[in-house]
Amino acid sequence: MRQSQYPFSTRKEAPKDETSQNAQLLIRAGFIDKLMAGVYTFLPLGLRVLRKIEAIIREEMEAVGGQEILMPALQPKSNWEATERWEKLDSLFRFTSYYTHNEYALGPTHEEVVTPLVAKLNLSYKDLPFALFQIQNKFRDEPRAKSGILRGREFVMKDLYSFHATEEDLDRYYEEVKKAYHRIFKRIGIGAQTHLTFASGGTFSQYSHEFQTIAGEGEDTIFLCAKCDVAVNKEISGEIPKCPVCNTEHLEIHKAIEVGNIFKLKTKYSHPFSLTYQDNKGDKQEVTMGCYGIGPSRLVGTVVEAFHDEKGMQWPQSVAPYTIHLLRIGEGDALNKYAEEVYNGLSEKGIEVLYDDRALGAGEKFADADLIGIPWRAVISEKTIEKKEIELKARNEKEPTFCSQEKIISHINK
Ligand code: ATP
Ligand code: MG
Repeated sequence: MRQSQYPFSTRKEAPKDETSQNAQLLIRAGFIDKLMAGVYTFLPLGLRVLRKIEAIIREEMEAVGGQEILMPALQPKSNWEATERWEKLDSLFRFTSYYTHNEYALGPTHEEVVTPLVAKLNLSYKDLPFALFQIQNKFRDEPRAKSGILRGREFVMKDLYSFHATEEDLDRYYEEVKKAYHRIFKRIGIGAQTHLTFASGGTFSQYSHEFQTIAGEGEDTIFLCAKCDVAVNKEISGEIPKCPVCNTEHLEIHKAIEVGNIFKLKTKYSHPFSLTYQDNKGDKQEVTMGCYGIGPSRLVGTVVEAFHDEKGMQWPQSVAPYTIHLLRIGEGDALNKYAEEVYNGLSEKGIEVLYDDRALGAGEKFADADLIGIPWRAVISEKTIEKKEIELKARNEKEPTFCSQEKIISHINK
């Protein structure tokens, strides 16, 4: 993309009403725009990151047999009354139709839709297990929305729901999803910072598991066993606990961001919606369920919290909006022609290039490149043309290297 055509330019000043690093940097760099507290627009650069994160999640959900659906965000009150969550869930956005006076909820999660959906199927034991997922906007009336896109009132969630004949089968699948989650966070580039964490389980199981990323603006506190790579959320233990795996008492305290949460729901929702299957003797049994959430929009903010310096963001290759930021420094027919040639050449080879073709000074272009944080910066100037080379620098390194136009791709793939 030609940067001269990007309408959302960068800003030097951080917005005054944002205190979190992720919101300050993403807004300054033209990745997101704030509509009101907890509600943001994803601009083209930010949306590219979000889509890459979603694509990784989608691939891994399909790898564990998840089938994608898209459920409505607008939901009838009756479904929320069936689970007694209409009154109890403080964060539920509720409203009344002006015309019909019917009451509705905006979905904060989708057990109240997916369970009655599956209950329509008249399942036999032969139909189980299976799993359905979606990637969709959720709505929560969050009392504190101060952490930028880490805590939105409208945000993107991937939610997977699994359906089983037995608890043993749920246990087996739950472990498979756990592994898929580890793969997701590794592919996004935050594998080293993200830890499986024992958290409160709700009504029917002893624990749920969270995936907590140790990074700047975390709202949660975890006790980490560095040896076993598991943690315990402070919410289930005021005292410093022992490691649930090796029993050591030497746990590290960290601030962390919850990026995912997996639950064994068992029959908590199948029961109120009469979700049953016929077993091999012809008897009715309740279906056993699991649910597995990840926050793709929260992950965009988490990656920023994990990877930035005083100059700006530092995107991991796998989720970066572009791979190379090509900067043309200076003006002139020969220079412009050469830069166009490099831009077109790389684009034709399938490399995603953000081409800074704006009539701006070097200082401003370098500052913008550092702020936007694309993994590779390639500079073309009169000086580099003379040497028949391009100056190439990784965002997280200090010194550039010089290489020919032909060598760029092999260099960045090293
Ligand atoms: P939290 O404890 O942070 O409030 P939660 O436990 O309520 O989150 P879940 O209901 O398990 O979250 O949602 C699944 C995932 O959706 C979370 O792990 C998180 O990544 C994401 N998520 C939840 N709430 C928000 C929010 N307000 N803004 C952005 N992402 C969110
Ligand atoms: Mg939680």
